[in-house]
Amino acid sequence: MTRILMMGPPGVGKGTQASRLASHLQVPWISTGDLFREQVRNETPLGLQIRDLMGSGHYVPNEIADELVAHRLAELDTRDGFILDGYPRTAAQVQALDRVLAASSVHLTAIVVLDAGRSDIIERLLQRAGEQGRADDTPEVIDRRLQVYADEAAELFGCYADRGVLLHVDGMGHPDAVAERIWKALELTP
Ligand code: ADP
Repeated sequence: MTRILMMGPPGVGKGTQASRLASHLQVPWISTGDLFREQVRNETPLGLQIRDLMGSGHYVPNEIADELVAHRLAELDTRDGFILDGYPRTAAQVQALDRVLAASSVHLTAIVVLDAGRSDIIERLLQRAGEQGRADDTPEVIDRRLQVYADEAAELFGCYADRGVLLHVDGMGHPDAVAERIWKALELTP
């Protein structure tokens, strides 16, 4: 059973590491950012509702994020665990996730926090802007997202600090090196 949350600033490589870890552990990787982008791409009613918020670097309302995640975690493939990337992001979402997990009488295994400095992050996001063309990878929006993350991180770490599940890992360097640090922190064999 592996129920892991991945946290860290935008552009730190959360998605890359979450997907690698998920295939290593053979559990699904659930990225709320990807799930929301899919809704926007498909122009679903939800997608149309959140498109402008996302494009300007603002959060989707808690209730929408909570419902999406609760729905996803009810699917059978999460029975043996999951890697959740991008959720929870607010204290209210922490409580919503607690309720979902408590309803199945399960607990989080660990929270992996990827750390990186601000200038490295900005460099990576601007590089990703060139590669992927995401609407929220522009200099002003990146600034907003980094500020939003700083506030979010303080709130989330406060919620989880006394549960003994936070594992801080240096997110800089080659993805292989970061993956190795994560495995070590989780006491997994590569
Ligand atoms: P990043 O971590 O690179 O900023 P994500 O792909 O995790 O990007 O998220 C992109 C956007 O999706 C966020 O800026 C926000 O608008 C929305 N989003 C993702 N997860 C959540 C969440 N848990 N609560 C609210 N909004 C979210």
